[in-house]
Amino acid sequence: MAIREILEVPDPRLKTVSEPVEDNEFDDELRTLVADMFETMYDAPGIGLAAIQVGVPKRVLVIDLQPEDPDAEPVECDHDGHTHTHPATKKEPRIFINPVILDPAEDVSTYNEGCLSVPEIYADVDRPATCTVRYRDLDGKEHEEQLEGLLATCLQHEMDHLEGILFIDHLSRLKRQMALKKLKKLRQAA
Ligand code: ZN
Repeated sequence: MAIREILEVPDPRLKTVSEPVEDNEFDDELRTLVADMFETMYDAPGIGLAAIQVGVPKRVLVIDLQPEDPDAEPVECDHDGHTHTHPATKKEPRIFINPVILDPAEDVSTYNEGCLSVPEIYADVDRPATCTVRYRDLDGKEHEEQLEGLLATCLQHEMDHLEGILFIDHLSRLKRQMALKKLKKLRQAA
């Protein structure tokens, strides 16, 4: 496994419309891509990643919301000589290949979204609160599942990447320009 470079705005490759994984492409190369995507996502750290974010224009998503693990001991953390504890999290890796949304709900939820390709920028985005997704797993087997909450939001955010759309594209032009300006300033300061 390897950590791959995450493309960031304004890299034009992020606007690519990704291609489906074909029947004869459920192979070792796909397994390596998915393993690398998880490693890259956990390292960043983030909760979702689309293949195009590591420069591969294929309809492949990985998601792990890394929920709190009530059965595990809290983790002690050390930052700049200051110690604090936070609940332990567990891994819940999810893979969605060639995902299609079948019935987005009319109810909307709003989440303060961020994106590994738009670092340090967060903004509220409205999306259908629940949706049913049809997708294939690493063996090419088809599944259908109803999603809600953060998982529904995260899946829709990642599926946007497959169409070359970023979460900031859902904002008003003014808010998007402000976000990109802020990112530019942060980069200059770094
Ligand atoms: Zn994203």
